[in-house]
Amino acid sequence: MPLSDILDRIRAEETRTGRAPGSTTLVAVSKVQPIDRVIAVLAEGHRVFGENKVQEAAGKWPDLSDRFPGVELHLVGPLQTNKARQAMELFDVIETLDRPKLARTLARLKDEMGQCPRLFVQVNTGEEDQKAGVMPAEADAFIAECRDLGLEIEGLMCIPPADEEPSLHFALLAKIAARNGIEGLSMGMSGDFERAIAQGATHVRVGSAIFGERDYG
Ligand SMILES: *Cc1c(COP(=O)(O)O)cnc(C)c1O
Repeated sequence: MPLSDILDRIRAEETRTGRAPGSTTLVAVSKVQPIDRVIAVLAEGHRVFGENKVQEAAGKWPDLSDRFPGVELHLVGPLQTNKARQAMELFDVIETLDRPKLARTLARLKDEMGQCPRLFVQVNTGEEDQKAGVMPAEADAFIAECRDLGLEIEGLMCIPPADEEPSLHFALLAKIAARNGIEGLSMGMSGDFERAIAQGATHVRVGSAIFGERDYG
């Protein structure tokens, strides 16, 4: 689907639900996609992209960012502490802060480097074993711990279970954000970004609907 169609659908849902036009940022998730498709979307003027692996992002984005000034890169996949420094140099936003050890590492590197990407805490709203993210019941304490370490938390992020109605998970994430005074909400993907906007998403992460199905072969 052309980028302009996705942007139109976002605007339409903002209007329908009484959200301010332009209040939702589209994060185009470009992981695994052929580079020419990514370049085509950059050439159309889009600048906010998401990647889920540090190594993959490091292989393509420094060059693309040189060619297309103004790129804002989001990490939307799990971050190992041994890659934290590289991630902090590469990404403008880390959406997957999800455990105390990583928070302590980011805080230490922030002091050392004198800079830090914008941060979102990932919440495992479905309490799934295989998924990253802090448990909903532990989110308030973890957010407080991050703040005590001097980390500013801009938003929360979730990936709902594949087989459940996502709106309930989006509503839960919005509730946790509200009671912690957090404005950013990264939620909604190709199949459900309109429902996420209806629940207050400030960022939707859309991959295959823009670029086509990912070919892992
Ligand atoms: C891949 C990915 C997306 C995009 O998924 P689509 O279904 O292709 O839109 C969004 N968020 C995260 C965390 C992802 O890993």
